[in-house]
Amino acid sequence: MDTNKQITIVGAGPAGLTASIALRQAGYNVNLYEQNNNVGLRFNGDFQGLENWSDEEDTLDILSNLGIKINFLCHPYYGNDGIFYGPNLKQVKVKTSRPLFYLIERGSSENSLDRGLLKQAEEAGVNIFWGQKLDSVKDGLAIVGTGPKAADAIAKGMVFSTSYKNIFVGFLDNKIAPKAYAYLLVNNGKATFATCLFEDFKNEKLYYNRALSAMDSVLDIDKIAPKEFGGFVNFFTEPIYSKNNRILYVGENAGFQDALWGFGIKYAMLSGYYAAQSIINKQDYKELCEEHLRPKLKTSLANRFLFAHFTNYGYSFILSKLGSYPDVIPPLRKHYNQSNTKKVFYQICKRWYKSRLIDKQCLHKNCDCVWCRHGKAEHGEAAVNC
Ligand SMILES: Cc1cc2nc3c(=O)[nH]c(=O)nc-3n(C[C@H](O)[C@H](O)[C@H](O)COP(=O)(O)OP(=O)(O)OC[C@H]3O[C@@H](n4cnc5c(N)ncnc54)[C@H](O)[C@@H]3O)c2cc1C
Repeated sequence: MDTNKQITIVGAGPAGLTASIALRQAGYNVNLYEQNNNVGLRFNGDFQGLENWSDEEDTLDILSNLGIKINFLCHPYYGNDGIFYGPNLKQVKVKTSRPLFYLIERGSSENSLDRGLLKQAEEAGVNIFWGQKLDSVKDGLAIVGTGPKAADAIAKGMVFSTSYKNIFVGFLDNKIAPKAYAYLLVNNGKATFATCLFEDFKNEKLYYNRALSAMDSVLDIDKIAPKEFGGFVNFFTEPIYSKNNRILYVGENAGFQDALWGFGIKYAMLSGYYAAQSIINKQDYKELCEEHLRPKLKTSLANRFLFAHFTNYGYSFILSKLGSYPDVIPPLRKHYNQSNTKKVFYQICKRWYKSRLIDKQCLHKNCDCVWCRHGKAEHGEAAVNC
C-alpha cells in the first residue's frame, strides 16, 4: 500500500463523511474514526434545513458537484409552503422561485442525512472504526471534523408525530427566541419544533414554553408522543484551518458555521470537500477556504451583529419587506454576499464577538494533540483555552 495515500479522518458528521467520500473516490485509503457506535447521535431524528438562499447555484447542484448523491430524505419547501410570524404574531408569507430550503432529517434513522452519507462512504470503501474517540493522530495526514466544542447558540425543542399537513413555520420575536428564531417543520406525519437562543441560555425553558404557546395560539396542531431535545452550535470569528499543515480542521470544529442562523451543514460538507481536494490536488486548504467559504462566513458574522441589534421593531420591518418581494431568494442572497458595508461591520463585530471556544479535550501544556490548534511555541499560555 502507498502510505502517502493513507488518510485518517476523525468524526463521522457531514464534514468528515464528505471528506472521506471524496478522498476514497480519488483512490485514497481512508480510516474514519467515530467516537459513537453510529452516525448522527448528536441529533434526535429532528428535521433541519439545507438552506437554498445563499448561493446562485441550487444546493442540490452544489452537493452533486461534491460527488454526493441524494439517498436521504430531502424534501423541497418553497415560500408558499410556510408562514413566518413576527412580533405580536403578525403573519407574513414569502414568495420564492425555487425551494427556500430542503428539509432533511438528522440522526441515525434510515432516511437521515447522516445515514445516507454513511452509506455512500461505505459503498466507496471507507474503513470505519466505531466507538473510537481519538485524542491524537500520531503520523500522516489527518482531517478532524469533530463538531462544536462550545455553545455560541443553543436550541431547545421537541420531535413528535402529527396528522398536520407538511408545513414550515418561522417565528421572529425576542420574547420567544432572543436574537434568533423559533421554527416548526412538518413532513409526512413527523414534526420538529424548536426555539433557538443566542443569549440568556439559563432561561431556555422560559423561552421554550413561550414559543410553544405562540405556536399553539396560531396552529391547531396535534402532538403525538412528543420527545424533548436540545443542541448547540459554535462559530468562530476566524476559522482555524490546520495545524502544522498535517491536520486539517473541517466543519463546525474549525468554526465553519453560519453565524446568522446556524445553518452549518452546507459549510461542513463544503469544508470537508475542500480539505479532501487540497490533499488530492496538493492545494493549500486555507487558500481554498479563503476563496470559497470565508467571504460568506464574514458576511454572516456581520449579519449576526446587525440582526442582534435590530430588536423586535427591526424584525417586523424585515419581515414585511421580505413579504413584499415577488421572489425572496435574490434579496436574501444579496444579504449573504459581501458588500463594502458588510466588510466594515465585519471589522467591528470581529472585536465584538470573541470566540467562546473552550476545548475541554485539550487541557495539557506543551501538548502535541490534534485538538490544540496552537504550535508548541505559542502553547504555554494557551494551554487551557486553546
Ligand atoms: C438543534 C440544531 C439544529 C440545527 N439545524 C440546522 C439546520 O436547519 N441547517 C443547518 O445547515 N445546520 C443546522 N444545524 C447545525 C448543523 O447540524 C451542524 O453545523 C453540522 O452538523 C456540523 O457538521 P460537522 O460534521 O462539522 O459536525 P457534527 O455533525 O457534530 O459531527 C461530528 C462527529 O464527530 C464525532 N466526534 C466528536 N469528537 C470525536 C472524537 N474525539 N473522536 C471521534 N469522533 C468524534 C461526533 O460523535 C460526531 O459524529 C443545527 C444544529 C443543531 C444543534
